[in-house]
Amino acid sequence: MKKSYWLRLTATVLLIGLLTAGGVARILDRRPRTAMANVPGKLAVTLILDPGHGGADGGAVSVTGTSESAINLDIALRAEAIAGLFGLRCVMTRTSEEIDYPESAATIHAKKVADTKARTELVSSTPDAVLISIHQNKYTTSGPSGSQVFYAPTEGSQELAQGIQDTLKQLSDKNKRGTVQIDKSVYLMNHVECPAVLVECGFVSNYAEAALLEDPGYQKKLAALIIGGFIGSSS
Ligand SMILES: [Zn+2]
Repeated sequence: MKKSYWLRLTATVLLIGLLTAGGVARILDRRPRTAMANVPGKLAVTLILDPGHGGADGGAVSVTGTSESAINLDIALRAEAIAGLFGLRCVMTRTSEEIDYPESAATIHAKKVADTKARTELVSSTPDAVLISIHQNKYTTSGPSGSQVFYAPTEGSQELAQGIQDTLKQLSDKNKRGTVQIDKSVYLMNHVECPAVLVECGFVSNYAEAALLEDPGYQKKLAALIIGGFIGSSS
């Protein structure tokens, strides 16, 4: 019963993988035992998906003029939908571009601080949480492209980052950067105790990649590979 349930789920995800992300289908095909063996264990955790920025903080601005916060939200919502197909318990730190701030937060800086602390409290108060924060990268020139995964200094974070970076390599040969420990200046990632990674999905400063990052099909592939990497990474 349990086995057929997982077979059905895997078949569903494989189908979606074939439709939306050849990479996920290839990964599950290549590592079926690993992926399936780890899914039941992953069900015990709560995956917190954090679309970076939002509200008064749009994050980086793409060369197309789109704010990073909107792209982050699109990809995170797609990841939430795919996580649901695996039966993963999922919490979003935000589901809209609007954020309710406390009345005391009058300036943009105060709003950002209040929002970051609220997200940190949400993660800290969630038992058995795993945090995946979704962001987009930006550089001063248009050359750099590709994904890179950063990890918190907490147990299990580096392994999770590597798992996601490995699956993202399926999408593009630009995604071959190594994982890196997150800078101390990123508050959320340095104030949680659970495994936590920050995925820079791509560069909004690169014209070709910026267009892809706003494409629903490409967003689905990114989302599927992020969730695939989460499930496939060793716990
Ligand atoms: Zn960002």
